[in-house]
Amino acid sequence: MDDATRISRRDLIGKLVAAATAVAAFAGLRARAKAGTIDQQTAHYVSHPTFGNTCSGCVHFISPDSCQIVAGTISPHGSCKYYSPKMP
Ligand code: SF4
Repeated sequence: MDDATRISRRDLIGKLVAAATAVAAFAGLRARAKAGTIDQQTAHYVSHPTFGNTCSGCVHFISPDSCQIVAGTISPHGSCKYYSPKMP
């Protein structure tokens, strides 16, 4: 094995470690984003639309079934008092 091959493997390993670190960081951010802290009762969450507003149209909704601010499983067809429409 020549030096060029060793450097190439070292670079590859470095890139794999960097990629794994990035994936782990993204997963951590995603897990934290899923952890809404306001309970559903306080948010007046209901599992049906209110005045035509649905979680799927809210900026806080995380597909498929979470919310950035409200805890627990969130239906895309639900709604709560913190509804904030996505910009078109
Ligand atoms: S309306 Fe928005 S803030 Fe309220 S539970 Fe649904 S996604 Fe979360």
